[in-house]
Amino acid sequence: MKNVLEINNLHVSFQTYAGEVHAVRGVDLHLEKGETLAIVGESGSGKSVTAQSVMRLIPSPPGKIKQGEILFEEKDLTKVSQRDMFRLRGSEIGMIFQDPMTSLNPTMTVGKQIMEGLKWHQKMNLSDAKKRAVEMLRLVGIPLPEKRVNQYPHQFSGGMRQRAMIAIALACNPKILIADEPTTALDVTIQAQILELMKELQHKTETAIILITHDLGVVAESAERVAVMYGGKVVETGRVEEIFNRSRHPYTWGLMGSMPRLDWQQDVELHPIPGSPPDLFDPPKGCPFADRCPHAMHICHEEMPEETEVSDSHRVSCWLEHPQAPSVSGENNNVK
Ligand code: SF4
Ligand code: MG
Repeated sequence: MKNVLEINNLHVSFQTYAGEVHAVRGVDLHLEKGETLAIVGESGSGKSVTAQSVMRLIPSPPGKIKQGEILFEEKDLTKVSQRDMFRLRGSEIGMIFQDPMTSLNPTMTVGKQIMEGLKWHQKMNLSDAKKRAVEMLRLVGIPLPEKRVNQYPHQFSGGMRQRAMIAIALACNPKILIADEPTTALDVTIQAQILELMKELQHKTETAIILITHDLGVVAESAERVAVMYGGKVVETGRVEEIFNRSRHPYTWGLMGSMPRLDWQQDVELHPIPGSPPDLFDPPKGCPFADRCPHAMHICHEEMPEETEVSDSHRVSCWLEHPQAPSVSGENNNVK
């Protein structure tokens, strides 16, 4: 299947008064046409920063893409001009955030906000754009769209604002939609409706979705593939069933609480894992999970394991899976 997006060796840092935070450290990811890729991990794992890099929404300074490429239709998004990026955002790549209140403009009607993109990117005239705005509101399930189109965000409920945001993001039929915790702020029933809606629209438009979430129930419901991030790196990636039923990484096992489990259709929050994530001011030279990993060996603290291929679609970065790992009984193998 053709990739709509390819991220190669992405490094992103933030300069702070206390030093440089290495938030994303060599991320490789790809997104296939029409699929949903979930990125999961604790906060601070680099998942939002990765997504913001695709949109070039890293505040700079203090943030900076230090290395790597983000390929979209043969263009490297780390290199395109601000002007081209403005064109791509909203027309080719849409984004929805956790809290629509911070990204919807409170002084503009919802209809106008949908029309903005259509006017700028699709050069639609006013009456066509207005028609399309009403159509989009209807599509995302907002009742009385002819009336709602003229209302302001504060006149919408939380769930409706999230729907409005999806309408804005999808109005120009983007090839990619980035959804960062899109349903976290909503109650469970509305959450399910919004996810259902995203899936439905995805089928119609063939939009590929990057879904950032800490909710494994949402992943099980919505994604085809999963990337697990930890300490600024992707530590495991695979199809949903591979990650949920045949995970090979101790961090993923920790997230899931236990392995394997087959009852993923419920809402499962990420399981808390004892210890804290690595210091990204001074990232460890070895496996980022080594300080918290119950299986850590000497080599884990010394060297980052290269990626091992478990199947065509399943990859893991862990010394337990590495063909060159010391044998489990070897004397180098003691926990730190
Ligand atoms: Fe644990 Fe070592 Fe695997 Fe890291 S590489 S997850 S420390 S076993
Ligand atoms: Mg986040």
